[in-house]
Amino acid sequence: MSQILDEVLAANAHYQASFGDKGSLAAPPARHFAILTCMDARLDPAKYAGLAEGDAHVIRNAGGRASDDAIRSLVISYKLLGTKEWFVIHHTDCGMQSFTDAILRDLLAQSLETAVVDADGWHDVGQGPGSTEANYLSFLPIKDLVSSVVEDVQRIRRHPLVPATIPVYGYIYDVKSGQLLEVPTATAAGRAAN
Ligand SMILES: [Zn+2]
Repeated sequence: MSQILDEVLAANAHYQASFGDKGSLAAPPARHFAILTCMDARLDPAKYAGLAEGDAHVIRNAGGRASDDAIRSLVISYKLLGTKEWFVIHHTDCGMQSFTDAILRDLLAQSLETAVVDADGWHDVGQGPGSTEANYLSFLPIKDLVSSVVEDVQRIRRHPLVPATIPVYGYIYDVKSGQLLEVPTATAAGRAAN
């Protein structure tokens, strides 16, 4: 049995034992907002944004990018579950800044094992075969953090299924300090129409 599996199930038993009255929470987020952010293990949106169970939607993917699927979730978040304000939060030292689509496609074409990174960049050290299937995917890597936040806020703002009444705030989370730093250009681009 996997040690991780044991640990997760033990942690859940502990959580469940002090679950309290959370079983009576409603599904729509009580504080009516949503956060789109990166899956990076150093980020804990519940802690950095002060969330309790039932408070808000947190949509996570690699980079916190406004992918079609992230937008799918945001549309459901407001249309069916009533959120009224959204945050796009990328972060410093994001792994999405360390590669391009071409690099990742090349690594995957060589093998499906975990690659290694050093000062010269990414290297594949696995046993092949890999797959060229990644040639048909974009991984939405990040060249510049400020630009990625602005781009994603703009994409959400301009999406035909997103109402003009929802403000979209753009922030960068600093992994060294835990601080949320506003990207004013992004927040300006995400301003709601009255
Ligand atoms: Zn990241």
